[in-house]
Amino acid sequence: MFATFPAMATPMMQQFEAAKARCPGALVLFRMGDFYVLFGDDAREAAELLDLTVTSREKGPDAMPMAGFPHHQLDPQLVKLVAAGRRVAICEQIDDPKTTKGLLRREVTRIVTPGIAADESLLDPTRSNFLVAVIPVETGQEPRASPASPSSDSPQAAAAGIAWIDVAGGRFQAAVLPPADLAEHLQRLDPAECLCDERDHETVSQLLRSAGLHAAVTARPSWWFATDRGPEELSRKLGGVSLEGLGFEPAHDAAGLAAAHAVISYLAETEPAAIGRIGQLKPWRSGHAMEIDEATRRTLELVRTVSEGRRAGSLAGVLDRTKTPMGARMLSRWLVAPLIDPATIDRRLDAVGMLVDNASLAGELADTLSGIGDLERITSRVVSGRAGPRDGERIGQVARVLPRLRSLLEPVGPGLLADCCDSLDPCDDIASRITQTLREGCPAYTRDGGFIRPGFDASLDELVELASGGKEWITRYQAEQVERTGLTSLKVGFNRVFGFYLEVSKSQSDRVPADYLRKQTVKNAERYTTPELDERQRQVLGAEDAAVRRECELFEALREFLAGEHRRLDRTADLLAMLDVLVSMATVARQRGWCRPEITERRELELVDGRHPVLEELLPVGTLVANDLQLAADSADGPQLLLVTGPNMGGKSTYIRQAALAVVLAQAGSWVPAARARIGIVDRLFARIGAGDDLARGASTFLVEMAQTARILNRATPQSLVILDEVGRGTSTFDGMALAQSVVEHLHDEIGCRTLFATHYLQLAALERLPGVMNVQVLVQQHGDHLAFLHKVARGAADRSWGIHVAKLAGVPDDVIARATTLLASLEADPPPPRPSGRKAKATTDDPQLPLFGNERPPHPH
Ligand code: ADP
Repeated sequence: MFATFPAMATPMMQQFEAAKARCPGALVLFRMGDFYVLFGDDAREAAELLDLTVTSREKGPDAMPMAGFPHHQLDPQLVKLVAAGRRVAICEQIDDPKTTKGLLRREVTRIVTPGIAADESLLDPTRSNFLVAVIPVETGQEPRASPASPSSDSPQAAAAGIAWIDVAGGRFQAAVLPPADLAEHLQRLDPAECLCDERDHETVSQLLRSAGLHAAVTARPSWWFATDRGPEELSRKLGGVSLEGLGFEPAHDAAGLAAAHAVISYLAETEPAAIGRIGQLKPWRSGHAMEIDEATRRTLELVRTVSEGRRAGSLAGVLDRTKTPMGARMLSRWLVAPLIDPATIDRRLDAVGMLVDNASLAGELADTLSGIGDLERITSRVVSGRAGPRDGERIGQVARVLPRLRSLLEPVGPGLLADCCDSLDPCDDIASRITQTLREGCPAYTRDGGFIRPGFDASLDELVELASGGKEWITRYQAEQVERTGLTSLKVGFNRVFGFYLEVSKSQSDRVPADYLRKQTVKNAERYTTPELDERQRQVLGAEDAAVRRECELFEALREFLAGEHRRLDRTADLLAMLDVLVSMATVARQRGWCRPEITERRELELVDGRHPVLEELLPVGTLVANDLQLAADSADGPQLLLVTGPNMGGKSTYIRQAALAVVLAQAGSWVPAARARIGIVDRLFARIGAGDDLARGASTFLVEMAQTARILNRATPQSLVILDEVGRGTSTFDGMALAQSVVEHLHDEIGCRTLFATHYLQLAALERLPGVMNVQVLVQQHGDHLAFLHKVARGAADRSWGIHVAKLAGVPDDVIARATTLLASLEADPPPPRPSGRKAKATTDDPQLPLFGNERPPHPH
């Protein structure tokens, strides 16, 4: 398919070299006729990534390798290159090959990088695509140190600077962090591309690798990252804004601002149009949202499943009934950064409540929101100059539904929905400008033409009339010629292939005048042309080109108008996304029978008939077992730490996870899967469940487990919630048990946070002696050889592990089971000393199958 190219004239290679020099490190896609071509090393690399054949014009040792693909494959090929983390420069032909003789001018018209891919086709609609800039350690005057040895306690503490932008959404933030927190922060962003000072290239690459991130690393000159000049330069490049006015303290935030300067410089180099798109740069400060580290987010599968990395099956998957991609992305943002301010949470919960109560309003809002599309990313294309007529039409469609949304929301009582209604800009000027300009059913690209509404522009209408042959002119000319020749069969015709012709029936064809030149013979007729017709044809063809040019001009004017209104469009997109999320939350809450949680500032957590939201969706109706949970700060009101025991597969991890998920949901503003819920604000949430192998990061399972445990013990506060499963399993029994016990004691004695601790070490049950520690177990029932998992959580500790029964269920051969049973019996008869606590651990309740928190429900204040 792709065999030969035009001869490689030297001037053309100079164009290629110029493009390469302008975009260091990028693959250059060089337009040649109907192909995009890559040369040299680019060709070899792209051939591998895109499965292309490498050819070369010349033979011999100096032959330049080439590879390429037809121009219409650009989008899918870009997707592959960007997904592979490559930067791509597209070098287009600027001159029209039809009208230009000799060498066409070529220029780089676009650079696409993983972090600056604003096109919808290159982006996952449910995820934000971040470009970040990182300054791993900045100590001001001191020489740079390695981030591996931060001394955050020293008076002149080192700081890391980071700034990030979602180019398609225009969100731009900067922060200064302790260097030790940088990896965590990067994991939260999961950037597509990471900019750094060329001197930090190795450090940053290593940092990303050890954080398990795959962002493309782009090194840039050191002065972009200079903390002494960065803030000032940044302010200048942002049009002279006051950084203090944006909420920064330039002295303290210097590293973050320098990183932001690097982001802006990179945009200026790569996608200058995107700078106009940037929303206000905002400082990011820790402590404004619930802190959820990456391991916790992954373990709890908040927005993606661990096994397949998909949204379906995650918490976001359950909650996502959004109708717009912006809504889906906002929902993910809310879930990974739940709020900690009770009043703001209550506003969201109330709004969801109004929509739960008013199903018809929720339904109408959902209907109105469907089909709105990705206003945020369309706006991004408008600003960067890549929007096509269909994008314009879609903005018009969005703008036209805004009045309806307002009228739906107007009757609602005060609260978040009413505020949303008040802030919703009806954008009627935008709607009417688009409606006047564009016709319905616009094509994606301007090159297809025919998208400007007839009647909008008189000069275009004339050109279009002319280009289509000009019906009036044809009628007049036909009448003149019939009169002149007396040929009654004579007709003037026009078609796009042959242009104008005079058609005369065969029977009259011998009487045509001498100035008629035969053009074509068709069945029963002859077709002729005349100098006048030829002239007309030239005008028509010229008119076609002129009409396309005029259409492009008119569209460009519309695009510029819309680009100028991008802040209004962004605000609208944000409000629509918020409505979308609230409606989605309400729909799920109503369909699944969830309840509105009561949010408090006490250290408590109470769920009555709590369910795991994902399991609830997966299991057949009626098979999910609901469970209660109660934690309290004061041991008089309830336990602060629950020790959960029971067999494998009994439901321990489900039980502790559902508590964490309920907290995330509630603080994100959603109702929760329970009959009743009272949730005291959690400032930091930690989950360590199961030990996922992390060989890719070069860490052994046990080491990963201990590193996560260490992090929890170091960072948890009394206001935190910690859920731990199977701590200490990766080492010898006594080692593990000793560690597990000391971890429980530390959480209980030193930190005092709410904790759910699932364990196989039945001996730990003895810790119930501590005030605030309570044993619960997942119940099983034995019928002869058969074991039934009841999944019911009850007071008391399990008194055996049932491991052999579970192994049998799993299909372990009978002889192995029989041998294990014998071995267990002898071990139980003669247990190996000693126990870590020196105390015989056993269930401490008289009736281990007592329902949790007594037979009666605990009294509820409401
Ligand atoms: P454990 O942590 O005790 O090994 P899990 O929590 O992983 O057990 O649960 C094992 C399986 O049991 C789950 O995958 C689910 O199918 C089922 N299960 C757990 N809890 C419940 C419940 N409350 N209701 C119904 N099925 C449950």
